[in-house]
Parts: sequence; C-alpha cells; structure tokens
Amino acid sequence: MSIRHHVSDDLLVSYAAGSLSEGWSLLVATHLALCPRCRSRNRSAEAIGGWMLDCAGAEPVATGSLASVMARITDANPLQSQQRGCAESTPCSHDLPEPLRGYAGGELAELGWRRVGFTAARVEIKTGDPETQVRLLRFPPGMEVPEHGHGGRELTLILFGSLHDGGCVFERGDVADVDETVEHTPKAGPETGCVCLAVTNSPLRFRSLALRLVRPILGI
Ligand SMILES: [Zn+2]
Repeated sequence: MSIRHHVSDDLLVSYAAGSLSEGWSLLVATHLALCPRCRSRNRSAEAIGGWMLDCAGAEPVATGSLASVMARITDANPLQSQQRGCAESTPCSHDLPEPLRGYAGGELAELGWRRVGFTAARVEIKTGDPETQVRLLRFPPGMEVPEHGHGGRELTLILFGSLHDGGCVFERGDVADVDETVEHTPKAGPETGCVCLAVTNSPLRFRSLALRLVRPILGI
C-alpha cells in the first residue's frame, strides 16, 4: 500500500493538540493507523507542542509560523520516532482499522448498509460530535457521484477500492480534502468500486434540482 494523499498540516496540528472535534479526529486517527509517514509527523507535532507548552511556562516563546513548525515535522526522521501501541503500527490486516472498526461496530460485511439511490449504500457512524456528519459510503464499480459542491469541508478516506477525482486516483489510506470552493464529480474505480469514510460539516450541494429535492431523503 502506497499512500500518496495525506492529512493536511492544519488537521494534524489540531489533532496533536487535542483540539480537533470527534468526527474529524476519527478520520485522522484512522488515517494514522494506515500511514507510517503521518504517524511520524503526528509524534513530532505532539513533541513540539509539548516543548512549546514547557517553554511557555518559563519565558515567552518566539512565535514561529505554522509552516516552520510543520517543516520540522515533515523533516523528522521516522526511524528516530518510537512506535506506540500496536494499533498504530499493525499493517492493515482487517477491512476496517481501529479506531474506525470500534465506532462502526464490526467489519464492512457485517454492517447494516442502507441503500442510497439504486446502487450506492451508506452506514451512519455515531459520534458525540454535533459539528460533523460521519458515514461510510459504498459505491459500485464505475459509479459517478453527481456533480456537487459543499457548504463546508469534506474529508474522504478511502478504505477499499479506489476513487477518481480531479485527475487524481485515491486508494486505501488516501485522504481527499475539499471545501466550499470545490465542485466535483468523483467516480468509483471501474473494477473494484469504492468504500470510504466521509466526514462533512455541511450537507452536499447538488447541481441537479432533482437531487437537491431528494437529498434529505437520501441522507447525504
Ligand atoms: Zn499520511
């Protein structure tokens, strides 16, 4: 597995600081379970955050930009970082890595999938986070999601198969990160389809009037 699309710096810094809400955190933590590179970045972010807190107690800390902090994180040598906990370092031997499997209540095939339209399906993931909607989505091979925009941010973590979007191919472990400036028509891989974890903080905005009318019924 070769992950090419990682969680962004702002998400990782907030996650390491413990200030990210539960829905976003679930996606970041699940990505970390699949991605050694971001586990290393996260450990460095936690270490730098702790160092800044220590310094803040003694004397004013020179304020560096987020970019400079993240440059240190990105340059960190993964081999210098200690592995913590088997859940982080275990290769993906299950369909759903922890912590997502615990939230979902089982493996993909065991879940109570509800149809969305004729061929897609979803599973709502319950969290205590009123800010986000968290769900698993399953698309059959080649299915194109109708063109839509967003009222906020949408993170999509690929768990099975692939998703083609904006000239990029996203595979297991990859994260697609779009906001209200993006309108797109993602398409499931032609052979495998796609299962993904999607986290949003606002409903989708479909271009099609018909889809806008049925969106509340579809629950997306
Ligand atoms: Zn990563």
